[in-house]
Amino acid sequence: MAQLAMVMNLDKCIGCHTCSVTCKQAWTNRGGTEYVWFNNVETRPGQGYPRQYQDQEKWKGGWTLNKRGKLSLKSGSRFKRLMNIFANPDLPTVEDYYEPWSYDYDNLLSSPPMDTTPVARPKSLITGEDTTVTWGANWDDDLGSGPEAVGKDPLLGKLEDKVKLEFEETFMFYLPRICEHCLNPSCAASCPSGAIYKREEDGIVLVDQDKCRGWRQCITGCPYKKIYFNHKTGKAEKCTFCYPRVEVGIPTVCSETCVGRLRYIGVMLYDADAVLEAASVTEDKDLYPSQLGVFLNPHDPRVIAEAEAAGISTEWITAAQDSPVYKLIVDYQLALPLHPEYRTMPMVWYVPPLSPVVDVLTETGHDGENADNLFGAIDALRIPVEYLAELFTAGEVGPVRASLQRLAGMRAFMRSVNLGEEPDPGIAPSIR
Ligand code: SF4
Ligand code: SF4
Repeated sequence: MAQLAMVMNLDKCIGCHTCSVTCKQAWTNRGGTEYVWFNNVETRPGQGYPRQYQDQEKWKGGWTLNKRGKLSLKSGSRFKRLMNIFANPDLPTVEDYYEPWSYDYDNLLSSPPMDTTPVARPKSLITGEDTTVTWGANWDDDLGSGPEAVGKDPLLGKLEDKVKLEFEETFMFYLPRICEHCLNPSCAASCPSGAIYKREEDGIVLVDQDKCRGWRQCITGCPYKKIYFNHKTGKAEKCTFCYPRVEVGIPTVCSETCVGRLRYIGVMLYDADAVLEAASVTEDKDLYPSQLGVFLNPHDPRVIAEAEAAGISTEWITAAQDSPVYKLIVDYQLALPLHPEYRTMPMVWYVPPLSPVVDVLTETGHDGENADNLFGAIDALRIPVEYLAELFTAGEVGPVRASLQRLAGMRAFMRSVNLGEEPDPGIAPSIR
């Protein structure tokens, strides 16, 4: 009932990829993991990594409700999964990831004098041969939305009627992603070998390398495609939430090196019995509230007593009480889960982006300058709330709008404070 969780504040991400690179240096700089990014940062709208990972009809990831209203894996029955082992049809291929390459820099250094500049052709890091590079982890970096993006981003395609996509209204933001360390992990449920487990003490989801038999059902089953196959060792690998670091009290590599300082780590206490119930709600619109509802108030004496009885240490209970993640998710309801409709109960949540600051909100060009604008014009933000809702609340715009209003309220409040002005009394209720 205790879980490490992360909240990322998307307004602060500058897309520098420092987190991805430092994570790669620490965890996936070995043969067989060239294409593996435990942490990646993708531009939204965009195809993501691997390409089109959000298309669950194609990949059969996550959970669905069967005819009896019970949770079942999208990738089918255990029998079907076992049969699929020999010809798993629902795996992304190397084309959906990319063939890692470098450039033939030797050609630059060893080229004889010539009239034209020598070329450093792309070379495959796997075969060493010349390669044609047509796709990579950040191939659509910074392209953003626009009519052409509709066919590439399924979320945008769904919103074609609602969201204007003229050139001057295009938008983009960055979405850093790691494994969600889900409360109801479909990777673990998909594994025929029982190699994937969720640590009782902190909820980190790991792959036992000795037990993994390389069936790759976890890759099909994970709707976030955050588990990878090492083709040299024949084993699945995934983000470990840097457990050797957090065990000694230091943060994950991605958090520590994040240039935007946007990653918050904390402990959440949750009701284990409520998890499957919350994942089984029948209406998509109820999924975000149901997931929010499994968290327990770490200041409640009854919760503390239960946690102590369950063997949770005083140190962890104190960490839960001081958790910035609890504040952002539950107290302020600013942070939202990524794709709650996958029903895995993800534990990396996001503060949705309010920026870029645009002057549609006020005549002065400031967002949320006064209370009227806070409550009237959130829908006129450049990043459409409908798009954010498809990412974070299974299409429900209400919680996204409420979160953005609180953010705008806080921004306006702090602006007044910094200018030495009296804050607009109409703003105060929105940031409580
Ligand atoms: Fe498993 Fe992580 Fe995928 Fe959740 S996000 S299903 S914990 S690999
Ligand atoms: Fe964004 Fe931080 Fe990663 Fe840079 S290091 S891309 S700011 S999450």
